[in-house]
Amino acid sequence: MPRISEESIERVAAASDIIEVIGSYFPLKRAGTSWRALCPFHREKSPSFHVSPQKQAYYCFGCGAGGGVFKFVMEYERVDFGTAVQRLAQKAGVTIVEEKGGPDDDRRRALRDRLLDMHRAASDWFHHNLVRSQGGAAAREYLKSRAIGSDIAKDWQLGYAPEGGSALLAHLRKAGFRDNELRASGLFGGGEDGPLRDRFRQRLMFPICNDYGEVIAFSGRVLPPNEDPAKYVNSPETPLFIKGRALFGLHKARRPLADTGTAIVCEGQLDLIRVFESGMENVVAPQGTAFTPAQARLLKRYVETVILCFDSDRAGRTAVERSLPILLAAGFSVRVAALPPGEDPESLIRTGGADAFRALIERAPDYFDFALGEAGRDLEDAGKKSALVRKLAGFAASLPDAVGRESVAARIGPRLAISPQAFLASVPKTPPAAAIEDDNENGPVQPANEEPDAVVRLLLHAVLFDLETRRWLAAQEQDAPSVLSGRPGTELLRTCLRAGFDPADAAATQTFVAAQSPAAQSVLAALLLGRPPANPLAIARESLRNLRKRDLEARREAVTAKLRNPALGPEEIAGLQAEVVDITKDIGQISGSH
Ligand SMILES: [Zn+2]
Repeated sequence: MPRISEESIERVAAASDIIEVIGSYFPLKRAGTSWRALCPFHREKSPSFHVSPQKQAYYCFGCGAGGGVFKFVMEYERVDFGTAVQRLAQKAGVTIVEEKGGPDDDRRRALRDRLLDMHRAASDWFHHNLVRSQGGAAAREYLKSRAIGSDIAKDWQLGYAPEGGSALLAHLRKAGFRDNELRASGLFGGGEDGPLRDRFRQRLMFPICNDYGEVIAFSGRVLPPNEDPAKYVNSPETPLFIKGRALFGLHKARRPLADTGTAIVCEGQLDLIRVFESGMENVVAPQGTAFTPAQARLLKRYVETVILCFDSDRAGRTAVERSLPILLAAGFSVRVAALPPGEDPESLIRTGGADAFRALIERAPDYFDFALGEAGRDLEDAGKKSALVRKLAGFAASLPDAVGRESVAARIGPRLAISPQAFLASVPKTPPAAAIEDDNENGPVQPANEEPDAVVRLLLHAVLFDLETRRWLAAQEQDAPSVLSGRPGTELLRTCLRAGFDPADAAATQTFVAAQSPAAQSVLAALLLGRPPANPLAIARESLRNLRKRDLEARREAVTAKLRNPALGPEEIAGLQAEVVDITKDIGQISGSH
């Protein structure tokens, strides 16, 4: 994603009122000059989540969550910074300028926009066919047999692609899309320059959405009585859609995932929809059989635990075993819900009810326990047992740390009737290739952030509220940077001193705060939400003076200690004594400069 210009960020900050933004997610109650609510980031009974319109910041006195409007959207919606800015820009009607936008970038962006429009149009058209067209009868019938009513179909924008092969083409051409755009969309076959032909024919259509809920691709399922061996046809990669990066259902499941900390993972779209609609909304589907490292990373933003809920046939088992190394390497705790043979989540809920499925999910054992349970009596056969040990040890190799491997060994060794050490000895030194990162798209590494100590906090507070204090302290830092060096939080203070924002300008302050690490944003928000310092410049002078004095006193102490050494010669003693006098004079000067 290209960088958004600082100026745009500032404009978005200026146009977004934090009370309005947070108030659009949940109600805020006025309390004096600030607004309050129950904190959305931790469980509580009385509201400790405060939002200040003056400082355009929020802070929770219960859990320490805090920051500006950008951080709020990032944390609440679980999106990255760029996305939060875009979303707020959309809300506020601000146009964003992206940096380094050469003509190529402009062209790419323009094409992307056209493709998004086209997918929207196609999705509407497919849905219309499902609901209205005669040809859609088979699809309606099929959905009815799966107990999916028209409200659910509408909610998920399910559709029907008619037979033939040129109806969508004609519809989109009429809507004004040009052939080069149609070719780039993945909705048509026809190669580089052959005649275009609808890719999806006579299929039940599932739109695949990005984080925002915009349609970026489709998956089409074959309908009975058609016996096409390709049960699903998916969009190929396009400028909108990169395979292995999207998770079906994520745009609806984000909040429930974050709230529960657990993801139910289904194989198919219909399974997912049924599970979601029965009230277990923390569910996603990987689109394809196994997880990719990119999908695992995406999911890791929301949850720590994954419950795989795949068919209990051979293909389902293979999908579990192919996903496992990737999920374990990403640090998830992985559980497996064992569906009864021949059932999928959809059929189980339809026949047994949501409670039957919920019970299955709640009982789902950890993968290693699951595998041992599956093996059952096979463990009595020496050959099968050692094959299982090899298999499990292979998976244990994907665990990111030794502690995890040891705890698995301690737990399952006894059940395999081998010692934990013997199990650990059979763990390969290198994890399977599938679990190794496929790209380095992890974003910038945030520097470790220290909690500022009391003095630095005081100075930060003064600097955040008063321009004059910031200028004064910045000048002091240039003259004598040593006093603050090494104190926890000094780096953040220095960043503040270097920044050019005017504390009276809430939007500029916001932009500055948003550029800091999440931990630093919490620290800054807590200070911004506090009472403004009564006399910031005096406080800063006093703090710095005290620090200097303590610094000098520590130095005098050190020199005096040296003087106690009986092995010193007369010249050394004289030198050290002179030093003590000098330091004492300096201390006197500082104390007298009130
Ligand atoms: Zn909280």
